[in-house]
Amino acid sequence: MLLQNEREEIVRFGRKMVSARLTSGTGGNLSVIDRDAGLVAISPSGMEYDETEPADVPVLDLDGVAVTGERKPSSEFGFHLALYHARPDIGAVVHTHSVYATTMACLGWEIPAVHYLVAFSGHKVPLAPYATFGSRELADSVAGSIGEHNALLLANHGLVAVGPNLATAFAVAEEIELVAQIYYQAKCIGEPVMVPQDEMERVIGKFAVYGQRGTTGSGAGGVNKFDAAGQNREEVH
Ligand code: 13P
Ligand code: ZN
Repeated sequence: MLLQNEREEIVRFGRKMVSARLTSGTGGNLSVIDRDAGLVAISPSGMEYDETEPADVPVLDLDGVAVTGERKPSSEFGFHLALYHARPDIGAVVHTHSVYATTMACLGWEIPAVHYLVAFSGHKVPLAPYATFGSRELADSVAGSIGEHNALLLANHGLVAVGPNLATAFAVAEEIELVAQIYYQAKCIGEPVMVPQDEMERVIGKFAVYGQRGTTGSGAGGVNKFDAAGQNREEVH
């Protein structure tokens, strides 16, 4: 099957989107690109995630021409493709209607650096102006508003997250939803204190090597200590 791994991933992460409560019903959509082939696997429009199988996942080229699959692609294929054109660094797009992020989007707010985890997006989560779902206007608004960020609120609609692969784009959506919930709750009982800009720079730098990124997988043997700037480092010898 063409793009078999990618189509299986669309099914798996679609189900995860529902179980992680990032969307409900048939809301939201997700896609993965194979840059070498110039092909995109995208969730089918209006299908229950737990009833979707890999063969239901349409494959499009970068002009939106259907290459394989019986099903109609997501009505938002336009902004998925626009993002792949605008951001050569990304390999996957996740769109959700998660409740707290969408609440911010309905207020017409961006999400500022209220918690360091906003670094999953960048310095903030910007907001794209409202446009009808599935429209070319929305595709233009999304591609024109995301900049270098990895997440974007869609006014009166929801959230878009991007990443080098589907697992990362999904994690961005999940963490930004958490930050949106914290922002909402903090706003309910007080005025949140923001993380300063220079501290966000530091966090974004640390995110680049967070977890197992940049390692060979053989963690044993290094010496872990703080460097002169107080950051933890592993000395490799
Ligand atoms: P699709 O089911 O067509 O992907 O639409 C869901 C959605 O979230 C529209 O913005
Ligand atoms: Zn939507």
